[in-house]
Amino acid sequence: MGRRVGVLGGTFDPIHVGHLVAASEVRSQLALDVVLLVVAAQPWQKTGTRALTPAADRLALVQAAVADVDGLEASSLEIDRGQGPTYTADTLAAMPDDDELFLVVGADVANLLDTWVRPEEIRARATLVVVDRPGTSVHHDELRADGWRVETVHIPLLEVSSSDLRQRLAAGRPIDFLVPPGAVREIEKRGLYARNR
Ligand code: ATP
Ligand code: MG
Repeated sequence: MGRRVGVLGGTFDPIHVGHLVAASEVRSQLALDVVLLVVAAQPWQKTGTRALTPAADRLALVQAAVADVDGLEASSLEIDRGQGPTYTADTLAAMPDDDELFLVVGADVANLLDTWVRPEEIRARATLVVVDRPGTSVHHDELRADGWRVETVHIPLLEVSSSDLRQRLAAGRPIDFLVPPGAVREIEKRGLYARNR
């Protein structure tokens, strides 16, 4: 029997409670064996806009955040593939054939799926799982009309984003409780997101 596997891709720059609550709720509500937090090496939709934190550091933060959490795992699959853009279609194709895949996205990302590369391959391989995110409503009918198998998972609305956390860190404002303690320690240890950098 294959596993039921959730795939939550992201930049995780840095990881925060929004990501973790989404992963944990999806795992519970859809009875998944595991949710993989797949750290993007070089998100093709984000290149050219700002300097990303090195992938190895972002991965270490995710690992620290899920270290003691059953059923959530950090995945370096996209980073290990090396240079060049990473496409979700390739990531899903690299998973074991008998895994049943659930691609987890926040509402903001769900509305952009038609801009993704090779969406037909993603649709064929995975069920789309859309989780709530404040400020965005999802057009499920349109997604279904486009051929997506869609599950909706309601989660507590958490108005937290990596962008806001980077601003907080740059301004010397606190990130405690928005970022899990293990990841906060890694940020400090590695001197990431420091002011004037
Ligand atoms: P950034 O502000 O840099 O874009 P982000 O907070 O959106 O960062 P990402 O790494 O871009 O984080 O997101 C990865 C995935 O997690 C996306 O599918 C996104 O929709 C989802 N996600 C991020 N934050 C939340 C949240 N607060 N609630 C629900 N889903 C979220
Ligand atoms: Mg985002």
